[in-house]
Amino acid sequence: MDLTYTPAQRAFRAEARAWLEANVPPAPLRSFDTREGFEEHRAWERALDAGGFAMVVWPKEYGGRGANLVEWLVFEEEYWRAGAPRRVNQNGIFLLGPTIMEFGTPEQKRRFLPRMASSDEVWAQGWSEPNAGSDMAAIQTTAIRDGDDYVLNGQKTWASRGAFADWLFGLFRSDPASERHHGLTFLLVPLDAPGITVRPIAQLDGETGFAEVFFDDVRVPAAHRLGAEGQGWSVAMATAGFERGLMLRSPARFQATAQKLVALYRENAESVEAWVRDAVVRCWMDAEAYTLETYRTVSRLLDGGKIGAEASLNKIFWSELDVRMHEIALAILGPRAELLPEAPAARGVGDWLDGWLFSLSGPIYAGTNEIQRNVIAERILGLPR
Ligand SMILES: Cc1cc2nc3c(=O)[nH]c(=O)nc-3n(C[C@H](O)[C@H](O)[C@H](O)COP(=O)(O)OP(=O)(O)OC[C@H]3O[C@@H](n4cnc5c(N)ncnc54)[C@H](O)[C@@H]3O)c2cc1C
Repeated sequence: MDLTYTPAQRAFRAEARAWLEANVPPAPLRSFDTREGFEEHRAWERALDAGGFAMVVWPKEYGGRGANLVEWLVFEEEYWRAGAPRRVNQNGIFLLGPTIMEFGTPEQKRRFLPRMASSDEVWAQGWSEPNAGSDMAAIQTTAIRDGDDYVLNGQKTWASRGAFADWLFGLFRSDPASERHHGLTFLLVPLDAPGITVRPIAQLDGETGFAEVFFDDVRVPAAHRLGAEGQGWSVAMATAGFERGLMLRSPARFQATAQKLVALYRENAESVEAWVRDAVVRCWMDAEAYTLETYRTVSRLLDGGKIGAEASLNKIFWSELDVRMHEIALAILGPRAELLPEAPAARGVGDWLDGWLFSLSGPIYAGTNEIQRNVIAERILGLPR
């Protein structure tokens, strides 16, 4: 592992920085969990795509710029440094995109990737069901082959931004007699297909991007199957590896929060208790450690390695760090943390409270941390089930 950037990587950083400084919207966009905010974010994604920065690591013919994973990390660092909007199509570009790259046919790559890069098609993830959350192998929604189509029946739930998304990728039981991980198929489903009902779920903050999705005899062409019929579990595990192990939460996100926390500490250093200083330093160091660990993962992948069970270590680390950073910020702010940013007495309270509420979901989404600990126990430490 060589931590020195090449001249080309330094030039790329300068180019990305200049573009972002010139193009990032000056005022924050509205939340992408509202209809208006979702479309504002889509417009931003189109601008990013036009600038050639939507998904730098993809090949040019699919809307990328053929950069390698180190350059992707560099771009992420610049992106968070610039305070650019959250990626509304994160389920598409960070999870499904790499999976299509690995399992998709040439036609599927041409059909789906460029429209994902431009966010003309924004994706939702349709894995969870009312009786299949942690235990994803309990999936019951069926996709039965009928001629050139699959016919879907059942229900998905907790689809992030599913209320506004255009497409959903999901796992479906294609062999009704099968059990557990067998007989599942990975399908790409347009959310405007006849027979689909999308029902928003109000979140803790009152926004309604979350959705449950109902399927009543929905026909999906077999050409929209990713990987072989009945092999959906292994396709989904590759997606989960990208999600937990690398792409969903790049280290720059947590470095940005750690830097904000240091600034908050400095502004309030006179009035905080002594333990806070050590806690802030620890968070900053952990964000740096996560960054170095990710550079190590990337070096391994560039040498031909694969993401494996250690993705679970990663997921626990970033999600717990995020909660801790936000808790410390709330401790520094005291009762002021509960004020809305526009309240007269808020005095630069920022969005720590919103961030804290969201951070609490980190140990749940992308597979709960208890489940990640099971994976570590069994697959890394070799402990009995
Ligand atoms: C913000 C957010 C966004 C999400 N977005 C999506 C999305 O876009 N698409 C999607 O499909 N899903 C999404 N989810 C759903 C998420 O994947 C599930 O909530 C998660 O997998 C847990 O499933 P569950 O809610 O059914 O809880 P359960 O599986 O019922 O678990 C309840 C509790 O029991 C624990 N538990 C369960 N089994 C075990 C075990 N074997 N050992 C130890 N502990 C166990 C869990 O850790 C948890 O604490 C999202 C969730 C959140 C919070």
